[in-house]
Amino acid sequence: MQEIILCKLGEVVLKGLNRRSFEMKLMSNIRRRTQRFGKFKIYSKQSTIYVEPAEASCDLDGAYAACRQVFGIIAVARALPCTKTKEAILETAKTYLGDAMARAKSFKVESKRADKSFPMGSIQLSQWVGGGLHDAFPQVQVDVHHPELTVHVEIREDAAYVHGPAEPASGGLPIGMGGHAVSLLSGGIDSPVASYMMAKRGVQLEMIHFASPPYTSPQAREKVLQLARELTPWTGRLAVFIIPFAEIQEEIRRNCPEDHFTLIMRRFMMRLADMLAKELRCKALVTGECLGQVASQTMDALRVSEDVTELPVLRPLIGMDKEEIVTIARHIGTFDTSILPYEDCCTVFTPRHPKTKPHVEDVREMEQALDIEGLCRRAMEGRELVRIKA
Ligand code: ATP
Ligand code: MG
Repeated sequence: MQEIILCKLGEVVLKGLNRRSFEMKLMSNIRRRTQRFGKFKIYSKQSTIYVEPAEASCDLDGAYAACRQVFGIIAVARALPCTKTKEAILETAKTYLGDAMARAKSFKVESKRADKSFPMGSIQLSQWVGGGLHDAFPQVQVDVHHPELTVHVEIREDAAYVHGPAEPASGGLPIGMGGHAVSLLSGGIDSPVASYMMAKRGVQLEMIHFASPPYTSPQAREKVLQLARELTPWTGRLAVFIIPFAEIQEEIRRNCPEDHFTLIMRRFMMRLADMLAKELRCKALVTGECLGQVASQTMDALRVSEDVTELPVLRPLIGMDKEEIVTIARHIGTFDTSILPYEDCCTVFTPRHPKTKPHVEDVREMEQALDIEGLCRRAMEGRELVRIKA
C-alpha cells in the first residue's frame, strides 16, 4: 500500500457547528496547494485530513512540505496503511519506522481503535506491537512516559495505519474563514510579516502596492512582486494591484507643508486601499505599522492616517519590537528580499522634520489645496494587476 499524509486539525476542531465548513475550506485549500505535486484524494475523518496519492507519480515530499504551510493544520505526519492484522501492523512498523527505531534510545507504541470490531483492545495491541518491536530492536528501551519515539497505530474502517512522530505545521485558521482584506504591501520588512500574520488568522488577502516611477525603479517593483511570491506558500495565490503614486506625491510636495508630507501621503494610501477594498468587497485593511517605529506611526499619526477610511485597519505588528518582526520575516522567508536596497515611494520625498503630533483638523485643511477625488481616480485608473500563482 502507498504512503499517505495525515494532517491534524488545529483550532478548527474548536469551532462547534461551524466545524464542517472549516474542514471543507481547509480541504479545498490543501487540494489547491498540493495539486502541482500530483493527484491526491483528500478526505477528513475524526479531526484528521487524509492526503492520499491517487497516482504513482505523486511527489509526496512536495505535498508534505506544502501541507506544513497550510494554515489550519497543527501537525502533519506520514503514515503507511496496511492490512488490519496484528502481524501486518508489526511488520509495517518494523520496516516503515526501522530507521527511526534504529536511531531512537527509547520508544512506546500508542494505538487508537476507531474500528471497534478489531479483535484486540488498544492497550493490548500497543503491548503486542511494542513487544515485537523490542525484540527486533533490543537496544531501544520501552519508555511509556518520555519516549524519544512514539509509534502510532490507528485502526480505521478501511485499513490500519502506522505512523511516526508528527511534525509541527503552521497552525492558524484556514484561509478564507477569517474574512477578506486588502493588505498594503511595501518593499520593507514589516508589511510582508503583517500580511503573513493576518493570513494565519484565516484572512484572504488582496495586495495593494504604491509605486512611483520614475522616482522608484523597476527593481523596486520587482522586489515587491518577489515578496508576494514568497508569501504565496502561506497565503495561497495573490493578486497584486500596483497603483501609480508619483502624481499624488508631486501634488502633495507642491501644495502642502513639508513636515506633513508623509502623513498626507499615507492618507492617500489609505484612501486608495479603501477604494480597492470596496470594489473587491473586502472588509478591512492591513498594514505593517508598529507603534512608535517612525514619525508616521505615533498614536496621533495613526489617528490621522486612518481618518480617511471607515474600514477597520488591522495592524498585527502594532506592539512588536523590530527583532520580533525580523525573526518572523526570516521564518517565513521574506527577510532577504526585504533588505534589498531599492527605494520605496516613501523614501523618495522624506521630510527633514516630520510631524509627530499632527491634528486631524489641520491635515484636513491642508488637503483642501488638493484635488483629492481626481488624484485618486487617476491613480486607480492607472493601476496594473499582477496575478501570482501559489
Ligand atoms: P515596511 O517595512 O512594511 O515598509 P515601514 O516601517 O517602512 O514598513 P512605513 O514606510 O511608514 O513603515 O509604512 C507603513 C505601512 O504602510 C507599511 O507597513 C505598509 O503596510 C504601508 N506602505 C508603506 N509604503 C507602501 C507602499 N509603497 N505600497 C503599499 N503599502 C505601503
Ligand atoms: Mg516602508
